[in-house]
Amino acid sequence: MHDHNHDHDHGHHPPGAQQAVTFNDCIRFHGHSCPGLASGYRAATAAMDALGVSRPEDEDLVAICETDACGVDAIQVIAGTTAGKGNLIIHDYGKHAFTFYNRNDGKAVRVTFRRNDTTESADMMDLRKKVFGGTATEAEAERFHALMHKATVDLLHAPADKIMKIEKITMEAPKKARIFKSVTCACCGESVADAKTRVVDGKCLCIPCAEGTQGVKKH
Ligand SMILES: [Zn+2]
Ligand SMILES: [Zn+2]
Repeated sequence: MHDHNHDHDHGHHPPGAQQAVTFNDCIRFHGHSCPGLASGYRAATAAMDALGVSRPEDEDLVAICETDACGVDAIQVIAGTTAGKGNLIIHDYGKHAFTFYNRNDGKAVRVTFRRNDTTESADMMDLRKKVFGGTATEAEAERFHALMHKATVDLLHAPADKIMKIEKITMEAPKKARIFKSVTCACCGESVADAKTRVVDGKCLCIPCAEGTQGVKKH
């Protein structure tokens, strides 16, 4: 969904959200402003509100994203749940659904987005095809970007219950990231986490070597 490039200035928060990080920080991190990023921003702020958590106390917050698209970047910035900390779980289901779990009290919320069936969004889909297929005229590309921009602004300003469903759910605590011992791959010689190795012909190999998909050629 890396569709367009707009320097849209948004330093505000939706009502109720009190955090130091803003949508601008999301844009800076993601590289552009877009509706997907706005959705992730709204999902994260709404979920944190519902769970009563703020970013500085984020260590116990876990985000489970059912998409790998733009919104995930806003989640990382706003909720502080990041790939590197192990409290960001991505299921590539292609759904705009985000679950947040608070390890402190075991409370969880799932945020999903309501469908937007306006003529505008159908128009946007048509234009998107043309823009990405390289067949859009300059006017069509301009209109596409204007619609994307409007969709982003609308998502940022709409009342939460108009665009999202925020459900309190019960779920089991997500597994914590384990700390692995490092071993050396017998093929490429690179260090690899023990638990991620495969044994091939009695040799301990990293996954890319075991599968023969090692992307880096060594000479
Ligand atoms: Zn994007
Ligand atoms: Zn290897």
